[in-house]
Amino acid sequence: MSKKNAEYDFKWCPGCGDFAVKRAIEMAVRERMVRTELPVENNVVVAGIGCSGNLVHLLDGPQPFGIHGIHGRTLPVAMGIKMANQDLNVIVVAGDGDFLSIGSEHIGPQALRNLDVCAIIMDNGVYGLTKGQSSPTTQTGEITPTTPYGKVEGVVNPLHHYLSLGVSHVASAFSSKPREMAKLISDAMDYPGFAIVHVQSPCTTYFDSYDTLRGNAKKGIEPGVFDVPEDHDASDRQAALSLVTSGKIPLGLVFQADEPVTLGQRLGMAYAKAKPKGIEDQISAFNV
Ligand code: SF4
Repeated sequence: MSKKNAEYDFKWCPGCGDFAVKRAIEMAVRERMVRTELPVENNVVVAGIGCSGNLVHLLDGPQPFGIHGIHGRTLPVAMGIKMANQDLNVIVVAGDGDFLSIGSEHIGPQALRNLDVCAIIMDNGVYGLTKGQSSPTTQTGEITPTTPYGKVEGVVNPLHHYLSLGVSHVASAFSSKPREMAKLISDAMDYPGFAIVHVQSPCTTYFDSYDTLRGNAKKGIEPGVFDVPEDHDASDRQAALSLVTSGKIPLGLVFQADEPVTLGQRLGMAYAKAKPKGIEDQISAFNV
């Protein structure tokens, strides 16, 4: 359970983008509680391992339930919770290292199932908690503690990855815009299906990317993000793929499948076809 614990000694560094994500989640959960009149206990936060995972212990205000699970396995834990109680609002929080490296193998299967959860991914381009090693979103050639001569692997484009795997709802946010992020998180929680809000959340200690994201005119750096154009058709997966491969990072709703059928609905349809068997029939099924 994630009751805020005054004795908990983990602290984020000043300026860490994860503070804004925490604030946006608090805003979205509170807004949802008022709008739906559902209690805070209707919400469950599932965290992975990493600086971002500590968010589950740091939320202010009314406390949702929370599980700080194991590295890369936020989605299987979230699936277990959702299968036990379809009515819960399950919020996954994870970092780029957790979700896109060891956790990557779970994204495709949950996209195919359309697991009805909202995943918020804090992308800072490094493994911050373990002191700045390269992650799947670290740029090629970047020097880090694990890549002293420069990262040799390519770079994952997370938004393209989600779209390619068939995720039903994909949004992109930036920690410098917490109110816009809160709205995207709120919409993702309401969406009936697998929804991911991928957040650019710079690590001020090991890989400060604020300038490359916001731009810095004095240093001659162009902004690396842009708002999703108003005429973008978010129901068009091909248009979404073009948007996320433009060379800069779009901010806003990138893709949303119309009329998705969730895993819970699919299971409901399957159960409706099931013919209950008596104990004798079940035992005789094992006869050879
Ligand atoms: Fe944030 Fe980086 Fe500090 Fe972790 S190490 S709390 S990601 S600034």
